[in-house]
Amino acid sequence: MIGGFFMNARLDEQLASEEITLSVQGMSCSACATRIERTLARMNGVEEVAVSYPLRTAWVRRNQAIIDIVGLVEKIEKLGFKAHIHQSTVEDMLLEKRLLGKRLLWACMFTFPLILSMLQHFSLLHPFAAMLPHWLFAPWLQLLLATVVQFIIGIPFYISAFHAIREKLANMDVLVVIGTTSAYLYSHYEVFRNGLDGLIRYSSYRDVALYFESSAVVITAVLLGKYIELNASLKLQQGHEPFSQLEVDHCFVEREGELQKIPTHFVKIGELVHVEKQQYIPVDGIVHDGEAYVEEALLTGEQGLISKSIGDRVWAGTYQSQGKLIIQTTATGHQTMLNRIRELVKQGQRSKTNLQRQVDKVIRWFVPAIIAFSFVTLLCWLLWGEAGSLFEGVLSALAVLLVACPCALGLAAPISLAITSSRLVKHGLIVKDAGTIEELSHINAIVFDKTGTLTQGRLTLSYVKGLTMTRTQLLSIAAELEKNEEHPIAKAIKDEVGANNQREHQYEVRDIHSFAGKGVHGYINNQRYLVGNIKLLEQFNIQLPKYIIDEATKRYECGETIIYCVQENRCIGLIGFSDGVKESAKHSINQLEQLQVKVLMATGDHLAPAQSIASAVGINHIRSNLLPEQKLELMKELQHEGLSVAMVGDGWNDAPALAGANVGIAMSNSTEAALHAGHMTLLYPQLSSIPLAIRMSRMALRNIKQNLGFALIYNSIMLPIAALGFLQPWMAGVAMALSSVCVVFNALLLHVRFNKAEMVGGAHVT
Ligand code: ADP
Ligand code: MG
Repeated sequence: MIGGFFMNARLDEQLASEEITLSVQGMSCSACATRIERTLARMNGVEEVAVSYPLRTAWVRRNQAIIDIVGLVEKIEKLGFKAHIHQSTVEDMLLEKRLLGKRLLWACMFTFPLILSMLQHFSLLHPFAAMLPHWLFAPWLQLLLATVVQFIIGIPFYISAFHAIREKLANMDVLVVIGTTSAYLYSHYEVFRNGLDGLIRYSSYRDVALYFESSAVVITAVLLGKYIELNASLKLQQGHEPFSQLEVDHCFVEREGELQKIPTHFVKIGELVHVEKQQYIPVDGIVHDGEAYVEEALLTGEQGLISKSIGDRVWAGTYQSQGKLIIQTTATGHQTMLNRIRELVKQGQRSKTNLQRQVDKVIRWFVPAIIAFSFVTLLCWLLWGEAGSLFEGVLSALAVLLVACPCALGLAAPISLAITSSRLVKHGLIVKDAGTIEELSHINAIVFDKTGTLTQGRLTLSYVKGLTMTRTQLLSIAAELEKNEEHPIAKAIKDEVGANNQREHQYEVRDIHSFAGKGVHGYINNQRYLVGNIKLLEQFNIQLPKYIIDEATKRYECGETIIYCVQENRCIGLIGFSDGVKESAKHSINQLEQLQVKVLMATGDHLAPAQSIASAVGINHIRSNLLPEQKLELMKELQHEGLSVAMVGDGWNDAPALAGANVGIAMSNSTEAALHAGHMTLLYPQLSSIPLAIRMSRMALRNIKQNLGFALIYNSIMLPIAALGFLQPWMAGVAMALSSVCVVFNALLLHVRFNKAEMVGGAHVT
């Protein structure tokens, strides 16, 4: 009763919990993302939240009973941003780009005359200044132009800074606003200190220099920086949604005896969907009727056209190039493999790496620290500068505010990581957590499972020996025990029995129990049977006569995988399997060794067949006869030696080791299980993606560190220079905008580096 209550409570909890993604507009740097994240996290009913600046999204897991979407949207809007239910970030970003583009254009137009007026600051350029009309230097014109830029074009900076200060969390806009407003007001002081005459006094380039251009140039430069950054993010987003064009809005369904065209997400499970040639398949399902050729490289990595006929599985998002199919629906909408993979990719992108978390902490303190430093600069100039150094003091303090760039810090990691994870998707690798990319770059040992990972997992029966019964009887008993098993051994037996249609008996089967890494135990017609390896036999205390052991040893030495069949306490037969090595295995292992990664094989199989596979692919370290939990122990042992370990295995019986490794890579032999296990999923069977992924993750980390290093060096060199008065405020603003553009460009260079890595790795991209 109580148990029931708790179960219901848990069920209610699960039902009440919902994940949503909101598009957020108006963020100006990653400090904004941090601000939204912290505010939402404090709300009652919000269970988990992640906000991404480059992707312009907020992902929230909320308790539906406590908080509704409107509440979340209102909260975000209160912070000064716009939010709505996420449909396509790309469209939002295109809109943002258009608006920003217009603002930038206006800003350039109004700033250009001010830039010309800057000629007056440099005596070398005075001859050029003399060629320009006098009125260009008129204080009233400069004031007018600067006012438009400051308060009309620049108003969004004020709004954003206002919201940030209200939340006691400073962002980059706060620096921009304080810096430019002070520069602007200081120029007022220069103009008006001798009364209103200053506005219309005869002006020429020889007059005292005004600093109106500082504020305008900084605002324009920041806008330009943002524009470039937005373009980069947009490119990223477009590359990011590789699966989005594959969805089909409407499809034809058999209903009430006729074909009806309905929106795809209204199709119910079990309904029959008709798909003509040259169309994307709209649902996951099983072919009910018809024959066709389908391209499914994106989901399975299998190249070329794959023939489909009655009983075959098909997936939404794959392309039917020839033929006609009637598909019985097994999943639609969010449940399709396509959408689940997409969700995983997104989940990976919204999570943060350790490095990023540390940077976030720095960013939170960065802006207040800069404001304080700017005050200190002014004070120092006033205290220790020569008399009348208020002017230099103010300019230096302004330069400090304007040169500091939290953006370069905040952008360093997210863009590089997003580029990396979307590139990995192209190679069939789904990263479920951004931290995995960081971990992957540190990997120096990798453990491969044998069956289905290094080998093709398509076992063929190479040997059957019935001792007390015929081959046919032996196989049909084994097939009966393996009926619900997914292991490649089980599949091979069932295929053999099914193919020869050898099932002549009707069995009464009960109490089937499978032992991971050992085999199966159960009762058929009230007699006990076992099918499995020597460990299973040991567990049930079954002794083998010497001639059987000798026979099995002979087969092992030929590289075969052998299982024993036992009736009651007596061995009744042996079944041997052989399996081909994956084409990509040898090359990939070679690549891994070049990357200084120690390669091991861990298998539940006997040593001899393990050795034969290992020597075929070039692995020197073998651990055989391991149970799933012993594979996990192996992970711990290697980690204990100080190694950072990746495990590559299948989703179901290697799951403990996958979870225990620093990076668990699940092979998608059985896609269902693989999606859940480990930190990464390899959708395609080729192993060459693995060394490539390690190489790419190392490049990404190097790139992030370069960017962080650059931001650090930039700030620590430029801040003192600005404080000592060597930088005009406008130069400081331009330097700041340039520095964040540099970071974005360096991150984008990853594309080029990845292209090179792909050529070296010889990996094939779909
Ligand atoms: P690997 O590490 O090579 O992938 P597994 O851990 O999946 O191997 O399995 C180890 C061994 O356990 C197999 O070689 C086989 O002898 C035995 N085994 C596992 N599952 C089954 C099964 N369903 N039927 C018979 N034998 C099995
Ligand atoms: Mg396996």
